[in-house]
Amino acid sequence: MEKDKNILIIGGGIAGLATAYYLKKGLQKGAGSCRITLIEKGSRLGGNIITERLDGFLIEGGPDCFLSEKPWALALCRELGIEEELLPTKKPSGTTYVYSDGRLHPLPEGIILMVPTKVLPLIRDSLISWRGKLRMAMEPFIPKRKETADESLAEFVRRRLGEEVLQKIAQPLVAGIHAGDPETMSVRASFPKFVEMEEKYGSLVRGMLHRMKAMRSMAKKKDGKRLTMFVALKSGMQLLVDTLTDRIKGDVTILKDTAVNRIEKEDHHYTVETEGGESLRAHALVVATPAWVAAELLEALDEELSGLLKSIPYVSTATVSLGYERDRLSHPMDGFGFVVPEKEGRTIMAATWTSSKWEGRAPEGKALIRCFVGGAKRGELVQLEDVELIRLVKKDLSDIMGIEEEPLFVRIYRWHRAMPQYTIGHIERVETIERLCASYSGLYLTGSAYHGIGISDTVREAESTAEKVIATLLG
Ligand SMILES: Cc1cc2nc3c(=O)[nH]c(=O)nc-3n(C[C@H](O)[C@H](O)[C@H](O)COP(=O)(O)OP(=O)(O)OC[C@H]3O[C@@H](n4cnc5c(N)ncnc54)[C@H](O)[C@@H]3O)c2cc1C
Repeated sequence: MEKDKNILIIGGGIAGLATAYYLKKGLQKGAGSCRITLIEKGSRLGGNIITERLDGFLIEGGPDCFLSEKPWALALCRELGIEEELLPTKKPSGTTYVYSDGRLHPLPEGIILMVPTKVLPLIRDSLISWRGKLRMAMEPFIPKRKETADESLAEFVRRRLGEEVLQKIAQPLVAGIHAGDPETMSVRASFPKFVEMEEKYGSLVRGMLHRMKAMRSMAKKKDGKRLTMFVALKSGMQLLVDTLTDRIKGDVTILKDTAVNRIEKEDHHYTVETEGGESLRAHALVVATPAWVAAELLEALDEELSGLLKSIPYVSTATVSLGYERDRLSHPMDGFGFVVPEKEGRTIMAATWTSSKWEGRAPEGKALIRCFVGGAKRGELVQLEDVELIRLVKKDLSDIMGIEEEPLFVRIYRWHRAMPQYTIGHIERVETIERLCASYSGLYLTGSAYHGIGISDTVREAESTAEKVIATLLG
């Protein structure tokens, strides 16, 4: 490979950083050498990932963990030598509560996402009515859907498990993960495993029981200890960002405080213009920004591609973390936290009892609660002034958990248009985007907008993007 090829990566979130890392690794393995430059608009790297330490508390502003079932983030941590930092939850599976009709109900044991796998806990459960339980119990006998066209998550859950499960379990759980609206979300793109289970086993219950067997042999740590479903990092998610940055330093030029505002193609290279008026040349260009930013950058190059990228909706969310003296809270906080169905009309859509869920998040004798607000239905909350947002969150914590105590501190992180929504038709939309993109040799899109919204999916995509870049440059 020629030595003077330039690879530009736009965006210094986990997608851009991981792409840079895998590129560096691939090129070092003898695939050739190139100049790699990563351009980040902000003054810090990591995008949505940010960890803050405050008076002995460890606060995650954005993501606080990843799913161990999706192995790519774990594999990256191991490769980076931070395996010892992997932090399982305090308990392998903690109770999640659902706020309904004025009180918190434990989600019955054995309900995985929204699928029941145990009979007894369901019979004893106080959240779902008898009618709703009977409807749930019919799930294995509901015939498979014949049509193959995409379906909304809401329709899917209604069809298989009934309206009550949709309203009281699926909707709030999905809001807590995707900040999304099940009525518009694509079940195929957001929960492909559910569609697979229906297709393969004819039932979610049967499919989930099979899956649980497989999960028992779940990712194990080198010392043989089993990892829990959710895994964090002892020093916070920022460690992943910092370690990646450290590893690429020296081989990758990192330009911070540099916003790209236009991309153009000229013969065999791309020209990238920055807000500061600088012009950079690239033989390969990786756009690792949110899709709506990619749409703006690529508008002059390809209107159709830009239009499709723009049609991937994004929602805004905020996390509000509150620290307390533990003995001033009467609530037992005996679980991972709670979710709130939309019909309850609350500000908080989900809350994590962070100090109950993870070791080392609050000093001895203190408690940390992190609330999640905004999303597809209440995005306007993210715009509220701090004082008003805090007032509403405190009111909910008082009504839901009986907390009247003043917090030791409150930390708010606002995430504007940060969470992509995989709405009906997402898979086909992304296929067209990728087909159009492939017609521009050396142009790549990567990040959470396309094939999975979580950190682990984003890492997998970054690795595959790096492989494609290397293959093109070598070809
Ligand atoms: C509140 C919240 C909680 C979450 N919780 C979890 C969780 O617990 N577990 C999990 O797995 N995932 C979680 N996620 C999702 C996870 O954060 C994403 O999967 C991941 O961080 C996406 O990374 P990215 O690099 O694709 O995008 P981003 O992090 O958005 O990075 C994009 C980068 O591009 C930069 N950029 C934008 N425009 C330009 C420009 N014009 N020029 C140059 N640079 C530009 C931005 O500044 C940013 O740094 C959460 C997300 C949010 C918002």
